[in-house]
Amino acid sequence: MIKATHLSYTFGSYWALKDITFTLGKGEFLFLSGPSGAGKSTLLKLLYSGLPLQRGDVWIAGFSLNSLKNSQIPLLRRQVSVVFQDFKIMPNRSVRDNIALPLEIRGLAPLHIERRVKAVAKALKIEEKLKNCCGSLSGGEQQRVAVARSFVVNPQVLLADEPTGNLDPDLSLRLMDLFMQFQSYGTTVIFATHSHELLKRHPSARLMRIEQGMVTYASWPGALLYRRADMDMGGVT
Ligand code: ADP
Ligand code: MG
Repeated sequence: MIKATHLSYTFGSYWALKDITFTLGKGEFLFLSGPSGAGKSTLLKLLYSGLPLQRGDVWIAGFSLNSLKNSQIPLLRRQVSVVFQDFKIMPNRSVRDNIALPLEIRGLAPLHIERRVKAVAKALKIEEKLKNCCGSLSGGEQQRVAVARSFVVNPQVLLADEPTGNLDPDLSLRLMDLFMQFQSYGTTVIFATHSHELLKRHPSARLMRIEQGMVTYASWPGALLYRRADMDMGGVT
């Protein structure tokens, strides 16, 4: 579902990512851990084409990002959905409107939209709040709305960039459990976090740690650890 090979990225002369290589299959759940500034957000941005590739190759949800045209980015985003830390929900609109937005943008039939919104709201236990205005919800509920909106399009891949960053520990755990549920729908999930508590809770999930842009630990054979020698031989200096 995701195959990234020799992915590097620089901001000016600063190496934000160095030679990242990993593969993830359908329905697999990966914790992307690492301290603040390690390169987690940069890696996720490359995967959803929020940043252009500089070095390396990415295959994701059937798309080769190396040959992706700008006009294909909306197609990619149908299959690769993102949840941000700062929710990006519309506070003046109802829960229903917020969740339905991606489906309405796609011009789906109203009946289909209402059915899908209800099903996802039920799965995330916010169906009682569908008519409420998002601004009146608690932080945890707003986060559920954001997750529901990312999931409502039935993406093949869900990328979450520290979605629990602003939540208290109890809500964080509950939110992460929701993401684990998505596995059972066959969705491939990458969940970036610097919280050790969350990692401990789900020891069966794959874990990849990055520090200073390099993979320093991987719990499965699908990811390669950064090796200085390879970089030198590969001409990345
Ligand atoms: P993380 O998400 O793990 O906290 P980021 O991927 O956001 O890390 O950042 C990795 C490094 O790249 C950091 O040192 C950060 O300061 C730097 N960086 C991120 N975005 C930019 C940018 N737009 N311009 C310059 N440097 C950046
Ligand atoms: Mg980040």
